[in-house]
Amino acid sequence: LSLFVGVDVGASKIRVCISSGSGLVEKKLVTKFPSSGEPDSVARIIAGLAEKLLEGRKPAAIGVGSIGPLDLRRGWVVNAPNASIKSFPLREPLEKTLGCRVVLANDCAAAVWGEYMYGGGRGFRDLGFITISSGIGGGFIVDGKLLVGWRGNAHEVGHLVLDYKSRLKCGCGGRGHWEALASGSRLRNYVMLRAREERIPGSRGWRTAYKRGLEPEELYALAREGDEFALMIVDELNRIHAAGIASVIAAYDPQVIFLGGAVFLRNKELIMQGITRYLREYSIHEPPIIMEASFGEDAVLVGALALAENPPSELSGAES
Ligand SMILES: [Zn+2]
Repeated sequence: LSLFVGVDVGASKIRVCISSGSGLVEKKLVTKFPSSGEPDSVARIIAGLAEKLLEGRKPAAIGVGSIGPLDLRRGWVVNAPNASIKSFPLREPLEKTLGCRVVLANDCAAAVWGEYMYGGGRGFRDLGFITISSGIGGGFIVDGKLLVGWRGNAHEVGHLVLDYKSRLKCGCGGRGHWEALASGSRLRNYVMLRAREERIPGSRGWRTAYKRGLEPEELYALAREGDEFALMIVDELNRIHAAGIASVIAAYDPQVIFLGGAVFLRNKELIMQGITRYLREYSIHEPPIIMEASFGEDAVLVGALALAENPPSELSGAES
């Protein structure tokens, strides 16, 4: 019986699982991304969790879906904008410690591969996965081929410029990026800016936002309570998401797009409703099917298992 390891390296959490096939997460362990440490510590944490799950058994292959940007030829994450350790090696140390092949890809590339192999993407040849989380990212399969790019970064759609006049800075240093405006780790800045521009003194949400901004959970909770300012901001953020998704549609022409990521999953009614309302306004043609991710919080893990079990040919040339 073959055993596979799936790894999801996020800016806030690291998830590791094992499976005996078909993308089924059988056991998993979750830990926090280290708040400080040497570059090597990330792979060490992953290997430690994998060894705990494997209990002495040897895996057939390991799939890793990771935050980017990546340097696939070296198997490194390089300058990740939202992580406390920004650059770290993954492929080589994991291959050495666990003694098997490691298939590495961007987290959303992994997630879209998981949808294609085991989820709602089966039967489609053109599909996308977009995560709305602490960052915003995407993975795409076009004509049945996983898009990888020169260094594995063909999917950094969170850094699409959606407002070229914006003063809001992204974690990557750029301005007006989708992620700078509407991601979980950055939307507080957008909220504060808007609170200064639009005064709604009768709104509790506005008063708090004016003082210190709002975290995503607060913003969406206030919107659910009917707070006027929060509803206005959620509506604007939905327009931003619709504009981002429309840009992605213009680039890749997908039949279906899956939406995932913690911020989306926790507030999916509010976000999905707005996206479907505004998408047509920004799209070049009839928008594709927009669906919730098939595996929820495990989207990247299932994708990582799919990478290990059925490595896409587009990734096999990546190792030098
Ligand atoms: Zn950026």
